[in-house]
Amino acid sequence: SPVSGNSATPRILAIANQKGGVGKTTTAINLATALAAVGEKVLLIDLDPQGNASTGLGISAADRGVTTYEVLSGDYRLEAAVAESDIPGLLLAPAGVDLAGAEIELIDAERRHFRLADAIEEYAASEAGQGVSYILIDCPPSLSLLTVNALSAAHAVIIPLQCEFFALEGLSQIMRTIETVRTRINPALELQGVVLTMHDRRNKLTNQVEDDVRGHFGDKVYTTVIPRNVRISEAPSHGKPALLYDLKCPGSQAYIQLASEVIQRERARPQAA
Ligand code: ADP
Ligand code: MG
Repeated sequence: SPVSGNSATPRILAIANQKGGVGKTTTAINLATALAAVGEKVLLIDLDPQGNASTGLGISAADRGVTTYEVLSGDYRLEAAVAESDIPGLLLAPAGVDLAGAEIELIDAERRHFRLADAIEEYAASEAGQGVSYILIDCPPSLSLLTVNALSAAHAVIIPLQCEFFALEGLSQIMRTIETVRTRINPALELQGVVLTMHDRRNKLTNQVEDDVRGHFGDKVYTTVIPRNVRISEAPSHGKPALLYDLKCPGSQAYIQLASEVIQRERARPQAA
């Protein structure tokens, strides 16, 4: 198998945090876009019933054909859900509101923790999946069966974290979930890193929390921090990643830097024989 360049099997990264509004979707969309911009072929899987990653990439609810719900339920292959976005090299498997029901419907289902992992494995081996080098999974704001499916499928997790009062408590909660998944389901699961989002250098609490998080997690925390930037919050309503909406804004530039850190960490991993 090739040693460098696009590897034969895609690297699967879950963007997860049980808290809502911390920048998961924003990170998923813009990291995916930045990776595509440097020539990676990326599939973004929307695993949040709110479907914000799908909307943010300009795929309205009406335009969604097969969604991730139908993939998890086993009615369709992942390949059938994968659509092209406007960004060259960026594919999307959209989500719909029906995904919220998957939780209950899968409660007794066979391989319920592995529905996504199985679907991705089949996709990666298929002709449609050839050349895909990264698969990013945008998780819902919970540690539910959907997030567990993402963590079971993933090689590594990226945790977006907002520097606010209870940040460390929230972080230890998701770290416990990762540990549980590692013990019971996916022993190879790694933490790729923690990315500080909506960062405000002028805010004393932000800086204090950043120090605490870096103190606890050391170089697991990316050097790049994503600044709070109004251009980032405007982009989704235009159905575009911030990188396309305003490439020069500080938020977009930070996501480009983050992508290069993510790639560096991937390249620094010991290569499988
Ligand atoms: P999550 O997916 O974790 O719920 P989102 O990515 O949807 O979080 O972000 C929550 C809200 O914050 C959205 O309205 C988004 O546009 C906004 N937002 C995210 N990152 C930034 C940022 N760096 N600067 C300003 N607003 C941001
Ligand atoms: Mg989201």
